[in-house]
Amino acid sequence: MIEVLGKEAVRPVTLHRPAAAPANPGRWSVEAVQTLLDLPFDELMFRAQTVHREHWPVRDIELATLLSVKTGGCPENCGYCPQSAEFDTGVKAQKLMSVEEVTQAALAARDAGATRFCMGAAWRAPKDRDIEKVAELIRAVKGLGMQSCATLGMLESHQAQALRDAGLDYYNHNLDTAPEYYGDIVDTRTYQDRLDTLAHVRSAGISVCCGGIVGMGEAPVHRAGLLAQLANLEPYPESVPINSLVRVPGTPLADSDPIDPLDFVRVIAVARILMPKARVRLSAGRQQLGEPVQALCFLAGANSIFYGDKLLVTGNPDADADRRLLDKLGYSTRQVSVQQEEHA
Ligand code: SF4
Repeated sequence: MIEVLGKEAVRPVTLHRPAAAPANPGRWSVEAVQTLLDLPFDELMFRAQTVHREHWPVRDIELATLLSVKTGGCPENCGYCPQSAEFDTGVKAQKLMSVEEVTQAALAARDAGATRFCMGAAWRAPKDRDIEKVAELIRAVKGLGMQSCATLGMLESHQAQALRDAGLDYYNHNLDTAPEYYGDIVDTRTYQDRLDTLAHVRSAGISVCCGGIVGMGEAPVHRAGLLAQLANLEPYPESVPINSLVRVPGTPLADSDPIDPLDFVRVIAVARILMPKARVRLSAGRQQLGEPVQALCFLAGANSIFYGDKLLVTGNPDADADRRLLDKLGYSTRQVSVQQEEHA
């Protein structure tokens, strides 16, 4: 934790740098997590906000931007994903973007206030020659003074090390859902495959970004199961993206019943309680939540958003709308730029 004085601040703004991976306070049972999810709403929000204020400065929202650097044509069959080659979603496959294209996009994101730049590629598992190319992209992003993040599919340990050597700060690899529901969502890779990639990333010294998706037709116990899995990773992830399913026509989950917005807020609140030092990120599906529910999510402990009008291939609130919402809530852009100094 360090303290800096913001340019226009009248008192110090305390910023937390999770220098070391957060320690896991103990294993959580699915039952214990379910008990938290079922708390009366006011009690749950009070507990989440208390934990949040113990570990993070208030009104500190991280802005991250996500770019699809290699789109579509993926051989996996994740039931929520428009980039799977198995589903007819209208997404056109594109090859890996050039260093120049990615640099331009990262510059634009930085100018718009983003502090971390995430690059996504729709691979099942990158080949070594793909890793070499992505390493060039990572070096370009780092050269702009931004944190770098990548999500490229399954990694072997030497590939994770090569990405780390290129300067990669974060690797995103989601668990998606509880182990018991996972087979209903994807059957081209196993839950253990995902855990193995996370272990390789952790061993290479890269910070872990790992979360899941709700609103995929799962039962409440599966939400508890996902949260328990995340919290029981040793150590738990530094970043935890929580997605609300974007129901894309052509995917098997296109007709799933949407999650109740207040249940979504509950998931955010419990993620905050279980993983106090993690950045809990509002990710896909934010556009459909609307401002009041997003405000409740911030109150529940979310302190990161994906920023920019597109998330890989699905929509996101535009940057101006996000700035208006942050202003309305008193999360000033000054504080965002203080956060940017922290990461520079
Ligand atoms: S989520 Fe990733 S691995 Fe799954 S189909 Fe989409 S791009 Fe492929």
